[in-house]
Amino acid sequence: MKQYTFIINDDNSMEDVARMIQKRLDENQNATSVLQVIESSGTQEIIEYGYSQASKWFPDMIIYGMTSQGAIVDGINEVTINYNGKGICSLLLFDNSTVIANGYDCHNKTPLECGQDFVRRLKGRTDIKGILLMSSDTTLFSDDFANTILETFPDVPLFGAMAGTSDLIEDRSMVYFDQKIYNRGIVAVAFCGDDLHVEAKHSLGWRSLGKEFVITKSSKDGFVEEIDGKPAIDAYKEYLGITENKYFYDNAAAFPILFEQNNKLVGRVALFCSNGAVKYTMPVPEGTSASFAYARKRYLLSESLAGANELIDFAPEAILIFSCVTRRNFMGDLLADREFLYYKNVCPNCTFTGGYGEFLYSRKGAGLLNGSLIAIGFREGEAVQTGIKPYVDDEITEQYDTVIPLMERMINLLEKTTDDLRQNVLQLYQYASHDELTGIYNRASFNFYFNDVFDKKNKDFSAGLFLIDVDHFKRVNDTYGHDVGDTVLKKLVASVNQVLPGNAVFCRWGGEEFVCIIENIRKEQALSIAERIRNKIESTKFTPVPKITISLGVTIVDDTSESHKEVFKKIDDALYEAKESGRNKVVFKQ
Ligand code: GH3
Ligand code: MG
Ligand code: MG
Repeated sequence: MKQYTFIINDDNSMEDVARMIQKRLDENQNATSVLQVIESSGTQEIIEYGYSQASKWFPDMIIYGMTSQGAIVDGINEVTINYNGKGICSLLLFDNSTVIANGYDCHNKTPLECGQDFVRRLKGRTDIKGILLMSSDTTLFSDDFANTILETFPDVPLFGAMAGTSDLIEDRSMVYFDQKIYNRGIVAVAFCGDDLHVEAKHSLGWRSLGKEFVITKSSKDGFVEEIDGKPAIDAYKEYLGITENKYFYDNAAAFPILFEQNNKLVGRVALFCSNGAVKYTMPVPEGTSASFAYARKRYLLSESLAGANELIDFAPEAILIFSCVTRRNFMGDLLADREFLYYKNVCPNCTFTGGYGEFLYSRKGAGLLNGSLIAIGFREGEAVQTGIKPYVDDEITEQYDTVIPLMERMINLLEKTTDDLRQNVLQLYQYASHDELTGIYNRASFNFYFNDVFDKKNKDFSAGLFLIDVDHFKRVNDTYGHDVGDTVLKKLVASVNQVLPGNAVFCRWGGEEFVCIIENIRKEQALSIAERIRNKIESTKFTPVPKITISLGVTIVDDTSESHKEVFKKIDDALYEAKESGRNKVVFKQ
């Protein structure tokens, strides 16, 4: 396959670009041709006019696209953002692939219904390698669309972006396909072919900073009303000194919030604030733990650099890039262009689009993204290595040989101080939750996990509870002294740990008594584990003490268990019985 990118600008009119496209079509007469057009004015008449002309000139071509806040048209040291109603056209020519596209008006269809329709269109296909997804309207999210498709085609990655708009408050974003323009819609393009290969790269680069907070009230359209039970703006005021005014976006954009979604870190950029509620580019579910994020420019760049260099082995013949405009606003045009150069090194005709949010749905993908960059490599046939060298960017590892900018020094101070504080907090947590002598959990932690088991218990959930007491331990102390007694306790804990399953919560109850909770086991397993522990201690050497044994009281916490007290009495009674009947024993009570 081949990719050619053309820019409509003051030097190249639409007609000029059409001639250049025609030339490429003439050279590749049997190719399936697809034209992606990114338009930066957000003016419907311009798009309609361009569309009608293009459809006349290229009736067989699949033409789709979206608006962008600014079309990013070329690499470094050139005018890079084009706000003057012009666009970028990226022509993809496939030798052996099929492209199936459709557009949906979401004024009268939900993303779920659109997804179901697209699945029907793809029915029976086993050669779908990737689906490009674009949406317009900053309150329309294509989660349901993507998830519907993934249910039928779990191995197919979906990628793309939310169309941009030059005016945040008055949303003028659009997506288009087949001469129809949707101001609240979805356009999906499936790339299919047995010989086609698609590889997606995703880079974020933002890092979390400061305390985690909880989103306590939010809505599906991307508004967060409350953070930690207070108006969302309060968090911005308190931590960043940002207030609700017309500079809100400019002030907040460098501090997206970060949280985990599908086990991946994702960001959300705050767009504006209204009556104390903050509008993000994409929804943040209630209950999410998030924190503010920050970046150094080189953090953002180095992930992209790695992603681009990793693509070299894939040997893409085309690359489509979708990147959040926030990155560009944060880094500035010159630096943001460096990201573009990394990919141009791999594929010179790649095209770069600034969206409001990015999508990457797949087994590994996080779904709705923001503040990130995704790059999709395409190739037909085997990878042909062309000897491209990985891009080396000295500037992002720059060592200052002059006065370091104040901002850099402030970030250094903040990062190091935050690291130190985190270390201190971790150490305090360790002291507060673990036993100093043996290193296992202490009684406070036991209470926490014991409560947790009680909260979770039901018909299908049970846990084993074990109380362990060393037999005649007083004699060890009396005969060999406290130091040896301490060493015995440490060794005993290490030995028990060797035979416990990975999910066991092992705690020191106090003195020479220990408790253990093991989730998802029943009586038989509990007894066999208890016996294994008892046996392990009996057969362990505790020199100079000739022999150490333990007694165990065991029970099961399940939906019949009434109270913490009642359960604990059971293991206590069981242990007492073990002691009374000769020690070095396991007794179970239910
Ligand atoms: P039994 O078989 O009935 O449990 O006899 P026992 O001697 O183990 O019973 P008892 O509870 O009377 O004694 C426990 C002893 O454990 C008393 C105490 O000195 C000792 N002990 C408790 N904590 C520690 C510790 O941290 N280090 C040492 N060396 N000894 C401890
Ligand atoms: Mg005791
Ligand atoms: Mg004892």
